[in-house]
Amino acid sequence: MSENKVERVKCLIIGSGPAGYTAAIYAARADMKPLMYTGMEPGGQLTTTTEVDNFPGYPEGIDGPTMMVQLQQQAERFGTEVRIGMITEVELSDEIGGIHKVKVDNTTALEAETIIIATGATAKYLGLPSEQKLRGGGVSACAVCDGFFYKGQDVAIVGGGDTAAEEATYLANICNKVTMLVRKGEMRASKAMQHRVENTPNLDVKYFTEVDEVLGDQVVEGLRMVNNQTGEKEEIAITGLFIAIGHKPNTDIFKGQLDMDDTGYIITKGKSTKTNKPGVFASGDVQDKEYRQAITAAGTGCMAALDAERYLASVESKEEVEA
Ligand code: NDP
Repeated sequence: MSENKVERVKCLIIGSGPAGYTAAIYAARADMKPLMYTGMEPGGQLTTTTEVDNFPGYPEGIDGPTMMVQLQQQAERFGTEVRIGMITEVELSDEIGGIHKVKVDNTTALEAETIIIATGATAKYLGLPSEQKLRGGGVSACAVCDGFFYKGQDVAIVGGGDTAAEEATYLANICNKVTMLVRKGEMRASKAMQHRVENTPNLDVKYFTEVDEVLGDQVVEGLRMVNNQTGEKEEIAITGLFIAIGHKPNTDIFKGQLDMDDTGYIITKGKSTKTNKPGVFASGDVQDKEYRQAITAAGTGCMAALDAERYLASVESKEEVEA
């Protein structure tokens, strides 16, 4: 990376979902002059949902993109600088008080005293053209976000892990009937979750079954399923299809530098947002595969800014003692 006239910031925030913006609001108010790089999808996953009805403080609900614009405005009001761009490379320091080096869009070098990682996770989809066409038109990757819109209706869910099992029972509470498609002859979900699924009367589990095609032009009207053992196809009428086949945390650029679990989620220390590198903090879905809600992401964004502020204060007081 170039040594000449490199811009240096106190606090670099990577990612612009609820975690990133909340971190920005707190960091800006603490006079850390945060600089945020938004990533490829400014506003994050919430910009792909319609109505957000479960974020406290919005009694009438709010649509995801509007909420993210408002969060950005709130962060900017206190002096956050928001730039559109990707952090494509990082060189994280091991030293307390060390400077972290990053590259923006593969070209521009930047240095940061602290980094708050809020790069989120990306829901996995099946990749079928009919599924992609109907995303936002009845195909969703978040039952907790969108299930309510299918109250009293027939829906289907794909996946056999804990998320799918949990979301299937959640949907069964709201919807008339839930069909669950599991591609193997058994679920990967914990025995307790499987037990819950099996004991839910309006939840029909179809093993060895995959999606052949999502039916409908503008909105989901049905599903053609295929038994992967016999090749037999079956059509059902549904209005909503939920994909729950896992998420991928956006952590590729940190691999080999930050401690991660075996699925790539960043490991934070205890109840804090601290990573294994001093001055580098992780918040939101990038370090949380369990809750994954806007409000929990926002909460950890706040924690990350407070952790970063305390870290900078301790570094500064150490420097004063040594001076
Ligand atoms: P998982 O990776 O555990 O499960 C993904 C599921 O989707 C598997 O059943 C997999 O099938 C299936 N799948 C993957 N790709 C496809 C595909 N192309 N077509 C059809 N099916 C597919 O992801 P989860 O999101 O369920 O869970 C992630 C982690 O979070 C896990 O460790 C889980 O235990 C944890 N978690 C815990 C919760 C809790 O404790 N309350 C709640 C939610 C998550 P196959 O088995 O055939 O590979």
